[in-house]
Amino acid sequence: MFTQYSLPYDFGSLEPHIDELTMVTHYTKHHAGYTKNLNTAMAQLPQFDNASIEDILGKLPTIKDANLQTTVRNNGGGFWNHNLYFSILSPKPASKPTGALLKEIEASYNSLDDLKAKVSALGASQFGSGWAWVSVDKQGKLILSSTPNQDNPIMEGNGLTPILGIDVWEHAYYLKYKNLRGDYIKAIWNVIDWAKVSKLYDATR
Ligand code: MN
Repeated sequence: MFTQYSLPYDFGSLEPHIDELTMVTHYTKHHAGYTKNLNTAMAQLPQFDNASIEDILGKLPTIKDANLQTTVRNNGGGFWNHNLYFSILSPKPASKPTGALLKEIEASYNSLDDLKAKVSALGASQFGSGWAWVSVDKQGKLILSSTPNQDNPIMEGNGLTPILGIDVWEHAYYLKYKNLRGDYIKAIWNVIDWAKVSKLYDATR
């Protein structure tokens, strides 16, 4: 039984960057829905009874029933992606990464601002619904990408671990930002907690 990440902050505490109604709807409707649908689907897949969600997402092609595979892809992705998203947001975020992550960003992307610009561009140019990602490969290098729908880099099965994900589905921003996805992406950096992202990087090493 998979359970949603418990928010350690109030729905309204990310204002004005992310509005309260968006947070309530996003967490209690969208994320809760993905979680419920994932659990319903997994009840039909006893081979995964003791598997972690990361294991399941890395082995989607082993689910032979095409409809069930799609259900697990969409809802398992939705479950995992939002757990990451909500866990890296904070009303009192650290504005800069530290330690090994900071070193890797400066070595491969010159500066945090340059990395943020690249991730923002990936999110802005993702056609339709999807996500922009910073993932870590097996060597500790950062891989930037975007995916459609609720897909994520774990599903590539290459050992990538996402440590930062920006939800660019309209449900993540439309109530406040309407069609201005770029304004939402610009704002969300104000509530991304680089202390948490740095910890996630360290956990992959
Ligand atoms: Mn979402």
